[in-house]
Amino acid sequence: MKKRIALVAHDNRKKDLVEWVKHNKEILKDTTVFATGTTGKLIAEELDDVTRLKSGPLGGDQQLGALIAEGKIDFMIFFWDPMTSQPHDVDVKALLRMTVLYNIPTACNRSTADFMITSSLFDDKDYKPILKDYSIYLDREVV
Ligand code: PGA
Repeated sequence: MKKRIALVAHDNRKKDLVEWVKHNKEILKDTTVFATGTTGKLIAEELDDVTRLKSGPLGGDQQLGALIAEGKIDFMIFFWDPMTSQPHDVDVKALLRMTVLYNIPTACNRSTADFMITSSLFDDKDYKPILKDYSIYLDREVV
């Protein structure tokens, strides 16, 4: 199965992400790409097959979070804007929380994205992120 990669960028970082996609086009062609709406529209100019979700502020971040919870995303590149607060900051936080909870490799800047995509583990079909055992939360008693 192809690696499934989520791409998201806030408005001030979209240019950087598109540039990164252009630079890594050949590798990304062999992956399944998901993106939030507006980011996806820009990326679709570079890659043929992009699954576009809703725009981030309209629920796209939450859709990605749900895909992560369902085990359907292997990597995330999320160029969030460190200089501007977003109307959907809570969704951004929730999405980043999901990546930590499910141990999804996540790059929030270009150099981390470069390290990730050039890692030998990027192509490793057998690599599975180790998940903590949260089963205690499934059947805990609430008093
Ligand atoms: P967008 O959403 O790609 O629709 O702009 C990005 C985000 O999650 O803020």
